[in-house]
Amino acid sequence: MERIERLRLFLIESPIKMARLQGVGHVKGTVKRVLVELTSSSGIVGWGEAAPWEVFTGTSEAAFAAIDVYLRPVVLGAPVKEIRALTRTMDKIIVGHGEAKLAIETAMFDILGKMSGLSVADLLGGRVRDSIPLSFSIADPDFAADMARMEAMVETGNTIFKVKTGVKPHAEDMAHLEAMRAAFGDRIDLRLDYNQALQPFGAIAVLRDVDQFRPTFIEQPVPRDCLTAMASFANALDTPVLADESCFDARDLMEIVRLQAADAISVKLMKAGGILKAQALMAIADAARLPGYGGTLWEGGIALAAGTQFIAATPGMSLGCEFYMPHHVLTEDVLEERIENRDGAVIVPQGPGLGIRVSDQSLRGNARILAER
Ligand SMILES: [Mg+2]
Repeated sequence: MERIERLRLFLIESPIKMARLQGVGHVKGTVKRVLVELTSSSGIVGWGEAAPWEVFTGTSEAAFAAIDVYLRPVVLGAPVKEIRALTRTMDKIIVGHGEAKLAIETAMFDILGKMSGLSVADLLGGRVRDSIPLSFSIADPDFAADMARMEAMVETGNTIFKVKTGVKPHAEDMAHLEAMRAAFGDRIDLRLDYNQALQPFGAIAVLRDVDQFRPTFIEQPVPRDCLTAMASFANALDTPVLADESCFDARDLMEIVRLQAADAISVKLMKAGGILKAQALMAIADAARLPGYGGTLWEGGIALAAGTQFIAATPGMSLGCEFYMPHHVLTEDVLEERIENRDGAVIVPQGPGLGIRVSDQSLRGNARILAER
């Protein structure tokens, strides 16, 4: 029986091109991630990535330690075809650390796909879409730089933009939204993300103000635990309210559905802690008629390949994705070749496994390795 024989682990740091003002945490300079390479008994190699964000889900250092110290003993020797059994074992031996578990599960799927000649999307039930509309996040402290970027992107067919509102004063947000609608009219699909910036007290007036710019959705206006406030906004506004920080896993979603606290959810593999868990989450969302949006943290090409395969095979993930990091933010990525973006969409790769290639050369050439085990 084909088993996992070797595990290599990397804590890496990648430079990013632009400063990001995100509300809950600001990012400038570099982002850290953990990469895992598993090798099976017949020598097939699979890759996975854990990309926690310290203000959101946890730290890369913790993910590195979780894999190195706690998960390594159960991963080594695990049968490649028993992915679900391994995910159950991982949940039993260490609480939380969803990103670490996701990284292992991703690498297992990559190997199983390469073994069988199937893509990860095939293994998840088969693809229901070949491309995923790509949203770019407007979060540069320098708004003029973002406007210039939008102009160039609209030219090449990127028309979905998610504005990080609530970081700058409300009047400034209003002026920027007005400038965007004035410049691009209805050619752009505008979405707003408050990243929990508003307090329930007074939030509805702010949301009614921005509502006039006809956003497709308003994401996470208030802190994650303010579900009744979210429910009141969802009820009061025509614009759908989307839950991100409020919706990590299936348990969160059940509460959202019970309180009718959102009209849509952002699904991030890093929050869900696994591809299978993200599909289970979407089963609940489908039943409640809540569409899913493919969110990200500061993920690189391996994590986004996993996200791409997941969305390709999950019908309810119909609101597009924000997998723009490798093409627009990271100055380098560890993949030999980035996943193709065309006409404002991420093209789902055709090859087996994750459909990407990573080599020691592409890894060492394009990232700073902080630790290696
Ligand atoms: Mg968000």
